[in-house]
Amino acid sequence: MSSKSIVLNITDLERTYGEGGHFLTVLKGANLQICAGEMVALVAPSGTGKSTLLHSAGLLERPSGGDVHINSKPTREMKDSDRTALRRSSIGFVYQFHHLLPEFSAAENLMVPQMVAGVPKTVAKTRALELLTYMRLDHRADHRPSELSGGEQQRVAIARAVANAPSLLLADEPTGNLDPETSDHVFGMLYELVRKSGLSALIATHNHELAGKMDRAVTLDGGKISDLKL
Ligand code: ADP
Ligand code: MG
Repeated sequence: MSSKSIVLNITDLERTYGEGGHFLTVLKGANLQICAGEMVALVAPSGTGKSTLLHSAGLLERPSGGDVHINSKPTREMKDSDRTALRRSSIGFVYQFHHLLPEFSAAENLMVPQMVAGVPKTVAKTRALELLTYMRLDHRADHRPSELSGGEQQRVAIARAVANAPSLLLADEPTGNLDPETSDHVFGMLYELVRKSGLSALIATHNHELAGKMDRAVTLDGGKISDLKL
């Protein structure tokens, strides 16, 4: 094991869905460690549990067994309010569909999570505009999501995910909904942002070429994680 600190440590993770008769165990003892600054691709067929794993890692849902350690903190037994606080301060999440707030502008979508975390409005606005400029979207700051293209929406969603300077970025097929050319462009910006900021990242993708640009790739099979040679 490297001497670098481990940002995400998933240990013996289990997740069973269903109550009352119908049970489906999706994760059956999954293990994964991601070090500071490491970028890992999660490549596996649909239905194998990628979203389940990412939602558990992102503290969006509680696993049935095992644990998720964020910066060495075990989280499964934490109370909801502590999990929420840790998620807000340490984790950024990008969905396949942008999940931006439709009634707010691009800039406001980046300001909201900062203000929820206690950042004053003027500071949040400055940071929002910096991030949008970095994503080459400063000219779209006042546009609502419906006035943006699919690629632009995802670039705003990526900027929003890092607005609170998390240590871990989780992305669930972030370019899966885009045409190949736009996908390459958006992924390129995501890649550059992760590398420049020294974030750790776990990114689910079906695109082997994109996966090949990351430090390593893992797959999910039978509810367990294993290394994947691309
Ligand atoms: P992937 O993201 O790799 O396509 P998912 O994690 O979305 O896989 O789903 C894994 C399996 O768990 C699928 O069979 C799916 O139908 C099932 N599943 C996902 N979410 C739920 C849920 N909330 N309730 C019941 N089954 C679910
Ligand atoms: Mg999925």
